[in-house]
Amino acid sequence: MKLHRVGLLGIPFDDNSSFEKGPAKAPSIIREVLNTGSLNGSTELDVNLKEHNAWLDCGDVDISENQHFLVPIEKRCDQLLADDIRVLSLGGDHSITYPLVKSYRKYYPKLTIVHVDAHTDLYDSFKGNKYSNASPFARIMENGLCDQLIQIGIRTLTTHQREQAEKFGVNVIEMKDWPISNPLDFNYPVYLSLDIDGIDPAFAPGVSHREPGGLSSREVINFIHQIDRPIVGADIVEFNPNKDIDNMTSQVAAKLVKEIAGKMLLT
Ligand code: MN
Ligand code: MN
Repeated sequence: MKLHRVGLLGIPFDDNSSFEKGPAKAPSIIREVLNTGSLNGSTELDVNLKEHNAWLDCGDVDISENQHFLVPIEKRCDQLLADDIRVLSLGGDHSITYPLVKSYRKYYPKLTIVHVDAHTDLYDSFKGNKYSNASPFARIMENGLCDQLIQIGIRTLTTHQREQAEKFGVNVIEMKDWPISNPLDFNYPVYLSLDIDGIDPAFAPGVSHREPGGLSSREVINFIHQIDRPIVGADIVEFNPNKDIDNMTSQVAAKLVKEIAGKMLLT
C-alpha cells in the first residue's frame, strides 16, 4: 500500500467569522492536546501517528495584515501539494476552505467534497461579505472547484440556501433525514471539510453557532472511517476555544485530527 505524507497546517484566522471571533486560537490549542500525554498516537484504524514519519507538522500559515487572506492560504497549500504532502488544516473560521480548495483544484482534476456542518454555508454573501464563513461553498461551486458536493449534519436551511443548493446541484443531507438508509457514493478523491458545529453541542460546545440536534462524535468518526475513496485533503474549522467547556471540544477536535490523519495516511 502506498503511503502518503500528510501535513498538519494551522490557519489561525477568524476575520470572516460572522458572529463571534475565536477560531483563530484553535490551531495552537488543538496542537497542545495532541502533544500532551493525555492521548496516545494510535488511531482506531490502527495507524500510530507518533511512530509515523509520513505525519508532519507544517506549522501555521502566516497571514499579515495587509494581505488578502486568500493569497497566503492558497500559496502555502500549493507549496505543500507540489511537495506531495496532503494537507490536514486546522482553522480558523470556515472561510479558509475556499482558498484551500482553490489550491486543491489545481492538483485534483476530479474532486468530491464531503462537508460536515450544521449549516450549508451557501449564502451568496452574508452581512455584505462574499468571503464570510457562511459563504465558502457558494464561492467553491460558482467557480467549479469540485465535481460533487455532499453535505451532512445540516439543520439550518433557509429558502435562499435551498435555492442555492438546487442551483449548484448540492447533495444536502439534513439531520431530519438522518441516518440515511443507502450508503453514499463518493465519486472521486475526497476533500473533507469538517465544521465542528456539525457535531451536536452536547459533544462539542466550543463553537460560535451552537445548533442542537446534530451528529454525535461517534457518528462523525464512523462516517469518516467508511469513506471508501482516498481522503486527499481535509480541514477542521470553527472550533471556538472561547466557547469551550472544560476542554471538551478541543478533545473532540484532537480525536478527529487523529482519525482523519490515520485515514489520509492509509489511503
Ligand atoms: Mn457551521
Ligand atoms: Mn461552516
